[in-house]
Parts: sequence; structure tokens; C-alpha cells
Amino acid sequence: MNAADKYEAVIGLEVHAQLQTQSKLFCGDSIAFGAEPNTHISAITLGHPGTLPKTNKLAVVYAIKMGLACHCEIELHNYFARKNYFYPDLPKGYQISQHTTPICKNGFVTITTSSGTKDILLNRIHLEEDAGKSIHDIYEDATCVDLNRAGTPLIEIVTEPCLQSCEEAYQYLTELRKLVRWIEICDGNMEEGSLRCDANISIRLKGEKKLGTRVEVKNLNSIRNVKKAIDFEIERMIQVVESGGTIIQQTKSFDAATDTTFAIRDKEEANDYRYFADPDLAPFHLTESFIQQIQASLPALPQQLAKELQEKYLLSEYDAKQLCDDKSTANYFLATASLNKNYKAIVNWITGPVRQYLNDEGTQFENIFLQPATLSALIQIIDDGKVNFSVAATKLLPVLMKETIEPLVLAETLNLIQVSNTNDLTVWVDEVINNMPDKVSEYKKGKKGLIGLFVGEVKKRSKGKADPKLVTALLEEKLK
Ligand code: ADP
Ligand code: MG
Repeated sequence: MNAADKYEAVIGLEVHAQLQTQSKLFCGDSIAFGAEPNTHISAITLGHPGTLPKTNKLAVVYAIKMGLACHCEIELHNYFARKNYFYPDLPKGYQISQHTTPICKNGFVTITTSSGTKDILLNRIHLEEDAGKSIHDIYEDATCVDLNRAGTPLIEIVTEPCLQSCEEAYQYLTELRKLVRWIEICDGNMEEGSLRCDANISIRLKGEKKLGTRVEVKNLNSIRNVKKAIDFEIERMIQVVESGGTIIQQTKSFDAATDTTFAIRDKEEANDYRYFADPDLAPFHLTESFIQQIQASLPALPQQLAKELQEKYLLSEYDAKQLCDDKSTANYFLATASLNKNYKAIVNWITGPVRQYLNDEGTQFENIFLQPATLSALIQIIDDGKVNFSVAATKLLPVLMKETIEPLVLAETLNLIQVSNTNDLTVWVDEVINNMPDKVSEYKKGKKGLIGLFVGEVKKRSKGKADPKLVTALLEEKLK
């Protein structure tokens, strides 16, 4: 048995998601990204003595939305605590957090991996404020501090130690990012830091119930890096244990240049943050009806909508899931499907040439120019035999993605209407048969695959306008 097969990995993820509110968690300062440093920093953000923070209701609503989307229990009686520690970009000397008394408890996120579906169990989702930013790469001998981000509302989504592989971590984060975008509480942009992940990783012998000593890799800023950091740590830990060493509890950072991790500190047994309820902030109590209103405002979630699409439009699971990658794609499908019953063709267009075009232009469905009605009309003229799919995809679509014109009018203007007139087609079919006596006799001896060649030749003669279905039928008839 391979040494590595004796062990199993145990992973727990902590994800910080920046909430898309206008203002900060406890004051009116803007949370806009990319502003001139230290311009969104009122006395409250700076924690000046005598200032009074107030809780941002929308941030609370967003946290509840996420909790409901993840099947959590919502805590009705909430308060904020001070987590005391010193950090240059934490101007107050404490962070206001819910850490020990989260607004959402338990719950789960369902993922699909190559070995099936699994519910990733959540421990909690709590609200807290972000710190500012220390910038080390402007001056060689000094660190700059930008406090604009201080006080930005975050939710922290914490899983149980129940993930077992980097593939599960990858799928979980992909699902989580899709979810926060879907319910519109966070832009999900990991590169800009709107979504950040800390990965806690340990190993243990298979069958062992106790958790092993963990390391925590901080502030991973892409799903790929999370995967790489986990891979690296699992392999490193197995090597340490196999060579007789012991794993020490550490806080680490990931180095994207080498795909390795390095320790930033050895973790003391228990951090003493001296949590206490923030005396300046009133506790906030929620009512059941307030939570029900929020529940009612949630859209159908991606997994639920994918199921509905399968049932209502008879789509495959794969197609339905592809459409539910993001809400604007799903809505685009629904809008088109209300106009045209060829649902399979709609999926094929959306996930094929249309998405390809958008990708090439570096844009998304939410910015698409092509109206669902135009896509529906395009599919209709194919189904009516006026143009074939490949002409429509290569010649018509690029124009329709930029200009408002009826697909049929466009096809006529570009002289692309398919020839479906048997007399015209027969002339080309006869020419091809007469020109290729060798191939024809091979075909007649049983090499039926040659039909594609003949059809291709006819299409060439027609400059792409021969209806391929009719041509095939005519050829088969003549070559019998
Ligand atoms: P802290 O806040 O100090 O980081 P928590 O107990 O809140 O500690 O745990 C943080 C995360 O670490 C959770 O996602 C949890 O599931 C995970 N975790 C805790 N112990 C382990 C372990 N031994 N191996 C892997 N993950 C762990
Ligand atoms: Mg942690």
C-alpha cells in the first residue's frame, strides 16, 4: 500500500464575503472599492472616543439572506462583541464581530463532485467589520495604511471540518461564489478581495475519529490557489508524519510564485481576544415575520431552478446546470423559452455560439445586445429550413450580436437563404456523382461514410446554401 493511502485529509474553510451595501457596517462611510486612500474614514471608522456606531440594517438583511440560502437557523437575539487586538490597519484597537454569537447557525451547501453529491456542513455565518489595508509594496522602507476598507461589512461563512479533498474545496467555493452573486449580496470577486478564504487543513489515519493538528492558510485570493495550498499541505503533512515528525499548529501564507506555503506564526494554544459585548451598540432582535419577508424576497436558488428547468423544459441535468451558472444566463433562457418551444435549440445556442461570442468579447449575459426575441426568431428560421445552423452561427449571429435586424431579413440581405428547391439541388447532386466515379463505386461497395464527402461537394457548389438534409436524401436515393 502506498504510504499516502493510510491517511485522509480533513479541511475546514472560513470564507469572508464583503457585502454589497452602499455604506459601512456601523456608519455612513462609502465602501466603494478603489477610492483615493483614507477618504472614506469618518470619526466612527477611526473609533474616536465619544463616537457612536449604528448597525446597518441592509447588512443584517444580507447576512440573513445568505443564511436562508444555506438552510441555516437564524438567531433572533443578536448583539455585537469587541474582539480586542492591535493591528496597524485596525484603528480602533478592536474589531466589532459576532464571532461567538453568530446570526446564522448550522446549515449546509450541496456540492457535486466526481463521486456524487455531498452536503458541506456549515458551523456558522456571522457578521463582522473588515480591517483597513496595509500596503507594503509602495516604499521599500515603510508600510502605507489605507483605512478606507475599515468597517466594511463582511459575513464569515465557516464550515465544519468536513471537507476531504481539494476537489471538494474547489466545488464548495465555486458553489458559494455562485450563491452570493445569485442572491446579490456580494460581487464574489476574489481577485479584488470581495471573497477571501482561509483554509484549515489536517490529516489523520483513515478510521481515526480525532482531528489532527491543523495549519491555517490565510487569505487565499483565488479558488485555484485554495486548491493548490491544500494539495501542498496534505503532501507536506504526510511527509512529516511518515518521516517520524510531528505537525505543529501554524498560521501560514500561500506563495503563488512557487505554489508553496510558508509559516507566518506558530499559533498559541488559545488566543485571548477578551471578547465583550460592545457597550456602544444596542443588541438587535429579529422577528419571525421579518425573516419570512426576507425568505419571500429570495429568488429560486440555482440548484432548485436547475431542477425546475429539467422538469418543465425536459432539459438534461447537464444543460440545466449550465444555464444556472449565473442568474442572467438562466433568465435569458427563460425569456427565450417563453417565445420558442425548441428548448433544446435554445440551450445549444446559449451555451454554444452565444456564450462563445460573449467570452471572446470579454463580456457576460447581463450585457448582451441580442434580444431573446431575436434569438427565438433565429432558431425559427433554422427550423423552417430557411438557413442551416452553421450559416446562422457563423454569418448571422455576429451581426445580430451588434445590430437590430430581423434574422430573416438579414439572411435575405446577405443572400444566405438555403436552397430547398429539388430541381436546383438535383443539378448539383448529378454533377457531383458524375465527377466522382471512383468514390461512387466505393460507396456502393459499402463505404457509406463517403456520403459526407458528397454532401460537402454539393454544399460547395451551392456556396453553402444547399439544405443539407434534402441533399443527403437526394444523394441516398440516387446512389441506391
Ligand atoms: P479559529 O476561529 O481559531 O480559526 P475555529 O474553531 O472557528 O477556529 O475553526 C475554524 C475552521 O477550522 C473551521 O472551518 C473548522 O471546521 C476548521 N478546523 C478546526 N479544526 C480543524 C482540524 N483539526 N482540521 C481541519 N480543519 C479544522
Ligand atoms: Mg480561523
